[in-house]
Amino acid sequence: MSKIHICTKCVMPETAETLAFDAQGACSVCRQIEFKQQNIDWEQRKKDLREFVEPYRGKADYDCIVPFSGGKDSTFTLLYLVKELGLKCLVVRFDHMFMRPVVEENTDRTLKRLGVDALRFSPNWQVVKKLMYESLVRRGDFCWHCHTGIFAYPMWISLKFEVPLVFWGEPSAEYGSFYTYDELEEHDERRFNRMVNLGINAEDMLGMLDNSVSDYKVTLRDLKPFTFPPSRELRKAGVRSVFLGSFIPWDVKQQVELIEKELGWKRDEVEGIPAEYGYEKIECYMQGVRDYIKFLKRGFGRTAHLTSIDIRNGRMNRDEGLELTQKYDGRRPAALDRFLRILDIDEKEFMNIVQKHVVAPNKMPDLDSIPRVNREPDDFREYDKKLDAAGD
Ligand SMILES: [Zn+2]
Repeated sequence: MSKIHICTKCVMPETAETLAFDAQGACSVCRQIEFKQQNIDWEQRKKDLREFVEPYRGKADYDCIVPFSGGKDSTFTLLYLVKELGLKCLVVRFDHMFMRPVVEENTDRTLKRLGVDALRFSPNWQVVKKLMYESLVRRGDFCWHCHTGIFAYPMWISLKFEVPLVFWGEPSAEYGSFYTYDELEEHDERRFNRMVNLGINAEDMLGMLDNSVSDYKVTLRDLKPFTFPPSRELRKAGVRSVFLGSFIPWDVKQQVELIEKELGWKRDEVEGIPAEYGYEKIECYMQGVRDYIKFLKRGFGRTAHLTSIDIRNGRMNRDEGLELTQKYDGRRPAALDRFLRILDIDEKEFMNIVQKHVVAPNKMPDLDSIPRVNREPDDFREYDKKLDAAGD
């Protein structure tokens, strides 16, 4: 662990994806956030935004599509587009099948208060389980179905409803270095292949799946919701797919306060992170497992990521960040039991799979030395009932 270089400004380690480090030992995201704070004319960008949306107003059944989870970023995005810009939005919700009750309540309340139409798509659970297992084995990351679905499905809806504008929320420059604040990030096929699908497209995935292990035989048609629409079709329809955070300065804490005040949005508990971050990634039962796998592979979890954001925004010093990170990252989450049950594997097999994806110089800890999260979030027992009902 001590051999891993940690950014001299925040607490992100060299094993984090897409980060580069400069001669002073600072990471590329820290440099980018300095750039965002000092060099961008946000007043001008706000004007650009108004100009940008104007041609879409009143042209189709909706002015834009808003991909929506019910978490803090998409809720703020929808609030801004409806209230600030006065756009008529179609909300598209891709259900990754692990939605927690608080996020469902938040969503229901938000949609009703804002007065918007919404579509919800839930993929085939038998297919989802196979995809989770296969992407865990191939990439040490079980979220392929969720990330590809979230980023592909709303694009299909844009084509089907002939609404050529899709508005995402947080730009990736806020936490990674594939894109910078210097450019207008667009969510297109290139971004999908670089950042979303783990280098596995739907055809590859179909070839990898073991279709002999359960009754359900997956076909290419089953994978269409996880496939990015062909570029030529999107181009022909003139679809633009942009991030609100490219036009206004993204500030998660301020935005959370705003949606709490305006929409009664509620926080929730997420395993493995300090309680004060109860606004982060509350949408998924499996978030704790995702963060835990990241720790096993890369030697850091979500607390490092969250405290780094606070450090960059001058709300925490680096020592406090390091202390919280050591205390919270890397504990075995209670959700892992549910996860193993869904994939029908034991913990030894799980550890063997993850071991193959460890990023040097990190070394995976021994199972016996890993501390556990002892208190389970309240809704986990509800979730067990759902698993029983689904026959998992
Ligand atoms: Zn940094």
